[in-house]
Amino acid sequence: MSITIGVLSIQGDVQENLLSAKTALDELKIDGKVIDVRTPEDISSLDGLIIPGGESTTIGQLSLVNGSLKILKEKIANGLPVLGICAGMIILSKTASDRVIGKTDQPLLDILDITLERNSFGRQRESFEADVSMNSIDIPKFNGVFIRAPSVSNVGPDVEILAKFNEKIVAVKKGNIIGTAFHPELTQDVSLHKYFVNLVSQTS
Ligand code: GLN
Repeated sequence: MSITIGVLSIQGDVQENLLSAKTALDELKIDGKVIDVRTPEDISSLDGLIIPGGESTTIGQLSLVNGSLKILKEKIANGLPVLGICAGMIILSKTASDRVIGKTDQPLLDILDITLERNSFGRQRESFEADVSMNSIDIPKFNGVFIRAPSVSNVGPDVEILAKFNEKIVAVKKGNIIGTAFHPELTQDVSLHKYFVNLVSQTS
C-alpha cells in the first residue's frame, strides 16, 4: 500500500520538510509520496502530516480562516500521525504563552496535552545548535537546531518526554503525535523523519 504524507504549507519550513520526508521514504524503501497541503480537502486524504516550524500565530490564524484547523483536529483525534516541529508543536498544544509577552490569543489545536513557553531560549539572534538524545525512540544523538524555539513547561499524564536540553523539555510524544522544539529538517540527518515515516506506514 502506498502512503501519502502531507506537509502543511501555510507558512514556514515547507520545502525542507518535503525533502526530508521524501528522503526518509526513499531510504526506508517505503512506497509513498509527500505532498504540500493547505486546504481541508487536501488534508482529508492524508496518512500522516508534518506541521512545520515557522510562525505559529500565522500558521494558526490562516488555518483557522481557511477551515483547515477544524479538520486537522478531527483527523488527529482519529489517529492521524502528526509531527509538529517548533511552531508546529505550538499549534498542537493545549496552551502556549510567550516568555516575554505572556499569553497571546492564538488559535491552537489543543490536541496534545502540553503547556508551552514560546521563544523559551530567546529570540532569533539567540538561535543555537546542540546535541539532543531521544533514546526511547532509538535516536541517541541528534543535532538539534533551535530557532526561536519553545520549550514544554508541563506535560499531561500520557505524554512521553523524548528529550530534554538544559533541563527543559524539547521533544514529546503521545501515541501518534510527536512534537519537537528543534528543526530536524534543517540537518542532513533524516532519522527523526524516518521514525515518523515508519510510524505512518505502521498506522495506515
Ligand atoms: N517562535 C516561533 C513561534 O512562536 C516558532 C519558531 C520556529 O518555528 N522556529 O511561533
